[in-house]
Amino acid sequence: MTLYDDYDAPPYIHVDGALVARDEAAVSPLDHGFMHGDGCFEALVVTEGRIFMLDAHLERMRRSLRALRIDYDLDRLRTAVAEVVHANGLAEASFVKAIVSRGASPAPSPDPRGLVPTCVVFGEPLMHLVDKRAERAGITLKTAAVRRNGPETLDAKIKSLNYLNPILAKIEAIEAGADEALLLDTNGEVAEATTENIFVVHGGRLRTPSSPAALEGVTRGVVEGLAADLGMPTERARLTLTDVYAADEVFLTSTAGGVIPVGAVDGRRPDHGPLGPVTSALRDAYERVLTDPAFTVGLDELLPVITGDSR
Ligand code: PMP
Repeated sequence: MTLYDDYDAPPYIHVDGALVARDEAAVSPLDHGFMHGDGCFEALVVTEGRIFMLDAHLERMRRSLRALRIDYDLDRLRTAVAEVVHANGLAEASFVKAIVSRGASPAPSPDPRGLVPTCVVFGEPLMHLVDKRAERAGITLKTAAVRRNGPETLDAKIKSLNYLNPILAKIEAIEAGADEALLLDTNGEVAEATTENIFVVHGGRLRTPSSPAALEGVTRGVVEGLAADLGMPTERARLTLTDVYAADEVFLTSTAGGVIPVGAVDGRRPDHGPLGPVTSALRDAYERVLTDPAFTVGLDELLPVITGDSR
């Protein structure tokens, strides 16, 4: 029995501008994404036919691509995201992953010159990081020995295909029986979780790490805005593990999981439990904006012909 035995896989994947049957979707073994992790990706969420924060994700992709000097037309990606969701009948709730790599090389060489980028877009039913019951109790974090890479090595602002250190951290968390890993940066400051940003609450003050080793999470940005609207501005601060252990509340944010309550970090439980007042208020506010037109774009706006909306 594997994690995916009961998985009802969506039938189509977008590869290089066309929808193809999932079983036939293929990328060259000499693709730089496969050989070297040379490329970048974005993950997005769709709720009730609306794509959340599409422009913010495309902007982060644009910055990653610029840093890697990969030239790709993001308007094509914009439509591909909507097409994948529509073709697979996933408008209700889905998770979309868009990958752009440097492309297939004629030879197994790291030389990046002259390659044509490969683009793959998957749309999958929304799978929760942990099941809903566990989530109410809060997920558990284990601080990993492996450190999150920062600007002195591979800048975390590039959302690259090289995810080895989150994966190594996840292995540590799994082996310790925790749901997710907490990663420190190379200075020993708290950076983020495996694939989520982290927030802590101290006496009503909301904080998130200022460490440059944390990804500029789209959900983190949204939650900072929602918190400000609720009269609770977020402080970006240098945080140590002691700040996390001493927190009243701890939660994570990510596209795949939204606002995720944390029940324990290295066995320490936040004073106000997993769903304290700040976490609850922000979780509710986040769930409300998932379909808000100010934060989303409708599939019908991106695909008026296919979805039959002739506006
Ligand atoms: N950190 C890392 C390393 C991630 O991979 C992700 C998920 N993409 C996040 C944080 C959360 O970012 P976002 O809110 O943009 O999904």
